[in-house]
Amino acid sequence: MIQPAILLTPGPTPVPESIRQLMAEPIFHHRTPRYRKIFGDVSQRLKKVFLTQNPVYTFAGSGTLAMEAALVNFHSAGDKVLVVENGKFAERFTAIAKAFGLSPIGLKVPYGEAPAPRQIEEMLAKDKDIKAVCVQLCETSTAVLSDIKAIGEIVSRTEALLIVDAISGLGADRLETDLWKVDLVVSGSQKALMLPPGLAFLSVSPKAKARMATAKLPKFYYDLKHYEKSMADNDTPWTPALTLVLGLQKSLEMIETEGIDAVFKRCSENAQYTRETLQKMGLKLFSKAPSSTVTAACLPDGVDGEKLCKIMRDEKGVVVAGGQGEQMKGKIVRICHMGAIGREDLETGLKVLAETLKEMKSSSGSCCCSCQ
Ligand SMILES: *Cc1c(COP(=O)(O)O)cnc(C)c1O
Repeated sequence: MIQPAILLTPGPTPVPESIRQLMAEPIFHHRTPRYRKIFGDVSQRLKKVFLTQNPVYTFAGSGTLAMEAALVNFHSAGDKVLVVENGKFAERFTAIAKAFGLSPIGLKVPYGEAPAPRQIEEMLAKDKDIKAVCVQLCETSTAVLSDIKAIGEIVSRTEALLIVDAISGLGADRLETDLWKVDLVVSGSQKALMLPPGLAFLSVSPKAKARMATAKLPKFYYDLKHYEKSMADNDTPWTPALTLVLGLQKSLEMIETEGIDAVFKRCSENAQYTRETLQKMGLKLFSKAPSSTVTAACLPDGVDGEKLCKIMRDEKGVVVAGGQGEQMKGKIVRICHMGAIGREDLETGLKVLAETLKEMKSSSGSCCCSCQ
């Protein structure tokens, strides 16, 4: 095993040295002016990454916790929610909705494609009872970017709330929360925010806040009423993931220093470099609406994607992701360019991918892409 491995997976992503060092500081108590000052600061700085004036709540938990909080805090049993289903993470909204007795209506979109805003418009026009539209900014399993601006315009003209899962995309693909009229933005720490896993985030628009008052689903840990009250004192209702919040302050400072626009530009350039390099290797891109967060490529016929990832990880020290779920498992490879993943690591990773593919192909003798 080569150490340290180059991590090019869609979360967790590499954590910069300066952030890791900060998180190794001696622990201190959270009900103190010291912690409240830090938490107040990160809660304000988060808005600059979410591009919003809305409050951004921080939970101890993985991103899925904030997906659940975004559904449960704003709905009552039986409520209809429209879920764009174009990948594994999109389908998670449906699973959560079902678990809480909501009535999810799936808008099935082929893997690799983005939802057509017009289809969402038609469904909302047909059924005025739809209370929310759930969609991913970047659907990490397919590397597809959705047109949130267009969807936001449509949903804002209705009573429905727009819930965007930006767990991977926030800080890599541009998301203008306020300008694009997004009500609820969900994110997590371990992707473009360059932190270890363990923090989840949710921004809440005034339209969503008004809905909270009538939402009857039971909740406790992530009941936003507790968080709202504590936030007024720069505090959290329960013990925060203190160490991660220290790291978050540093990562947000780093993003601010580089400039959010520069961060988007860097991710977009690295994404373009990744796409071009993969195509030069003769691979087809899987996503018809490529994102700046992650890129997915189809593997040649006869190349087992799971084996490829395993060889790259165990023998060459480069960790990439394969496909998830029936249709994509073993057939695609996914490479990230968000957060602290730099050009050098991408170059090395892509070189190792080309090399490994060559070795595997010479033993199978195939040439065409198998997944499309
Ligand atoms: C990673 C990811 C999730 C899952 O987040 P967890 O932190 O594992 O709970 C959900 N949605 C998207 C788009 C993701 O990329």
